[in-house]
Amino acid sequence: MPPDRRKTRQVAVGDERTGVVRIGGDAPVSVQTMTAGYTYEVDRCVAEINKLAAAGADIVRVAVPNKKDTEALKQIIPQVRVPIVADVHFHFGRALEAVEAGVHKIRLNPGNIQDRGHVEEVIAACKQANGGAGIPIRVGVNEGSIVERKDKQKRMKELGGVFSAHRHGHFLAIMLAKLEEYLDIFYDNDFYDIVISAKSPDPTLVIDAYTEISKRFDHPLHLGVTHAGPRETGSIRSVVPLGHLLASGVGDTIRISYANDPVFEVEDALEMLYVLGLRERKGVDLIACPTCGRIEVDLFTLVQDVRHKLANAIELPIKVAVMGCIVNGPGEAEGADVAVFAGKQRGIIYVQGQKVATVPEVEILDALLDECRKFEAKVKAGDAKLGEKVVEIAPPDPIGELGSGFEKIAAGDTEHVGGAATTPLTVEGRP
Ligand code: SF4
Repeated sequence: MPPDRRKTRQVAVGDERTGVVRIGGDAPVSVQTMTAGYTYEVDRCVAEINKLAAAGADIVRVAVPNKKDTEALKQIIPQVRVPIVADVHFHFGRALEAVEAGVHKIRLNPGNIQDRGHVEEVIAACKQANGGAGIPIRVGVNEGSIVERKDKQKRMKELGGVFSAHRHGHFLAIMLAKLEEYLDIFYDNDFYDIVISAKSPDPTLVIDAYTEISKRFDHPLHLGVTHAGPRETGSIRSVVPLGHLLASGVGDTIRISYANDPVFEVEDALEMLYVLGLRERKGVDLIACPTCGRIEVDLFTLVQDVRHKLANAIELPIKVAVMGCIVNGPGEAEGADVAVFAGKQRGIIYVQGQKVATVPEVEILDALLDECRKFEAKVKAGDAKLGEKVVEIAPPDPIGELGSGFEKIAAGDTEHVGGAATTPLTVEGRP
């Protein structure tokens, strides 16, 4: 069951041409990312935005540090079909220019756009934008840019006591104080199309900050861990706090930030939402065993090949299991729509619990792909249902259909990796 989500005041991003993405309320959690290239390079920027949208991004943000970037927006926006957010720092004028160029949302940083008059000008422009329907503003109180030295001590005294026993007390006090002050400008101007973010590179601070903010404001929350690092480590740094918050019902839109191609941000954000049941999966749900000393096929290569082939071939969220042996193979295969479990350089393929083929190792990939295609066609024709097991899986013949039956395993009578007849494992980048 997906987690119950905190109800928030919904905002709408986009227009008729791009489609409207709703954030908050009962809308699904949306996925955002940001272009890595220069916005003023119009063709490249359009290509990157389209690539990110194709990868599944619901909303794409672009940096507009200079006037040539907001000028470029006028050409970019008509060429893309996903709502665009202008990321504005330091120069409130960039926000006004971006609104004029037709952007669908503005991100402001209270840490570096502080003048009340300037903020009010941006609010007024956003109210009038989109043919008078208005566009939302995200208030992003990033830890790195929010800690103002000049009023830190004063604000600490005012709010610090509330969090005195808290491990992140001083940061939370400053973040919340700044947020309250800033939002008052919006409320005074009768503007409520607001999304809040409170990012930090520290995952524990991210959890604490969003948890506290969710108790105090009903605006939708944009979750993120800022400067998470390379994908290899940044994925853990991001998914731990974001997954925790989302599983607690907190969070309406997310952005994962990697020092890498932002397509990976989109892929990983979507996968996190899929596994939490917060978005309907598109494409195959692949599970696979980690292998162990019982493996008798090159499963790592097989799994990667299956992943790449199925990603392009299958639209429906078919659950596919690729298992190394009969120890866990039948159990996992029972819960899958299409499954293969391998034995000694062979594989048995099951479709919803029914055995459909036993093939040599070299044919497993094509046979599995073929069965997935046939199963998808049956589902589309209404002749099968996803996730509906037809029969109990019987384990392979214990006398050794796969060369590694239960009795043989019990008797220790199997040949394993390293034996003359087995296929060596392939681990990318390692001997
Ligand atoms: S399915 Fe078999 S090979 Fe894979 S990890 Fe489990 S016991 Fe090992």
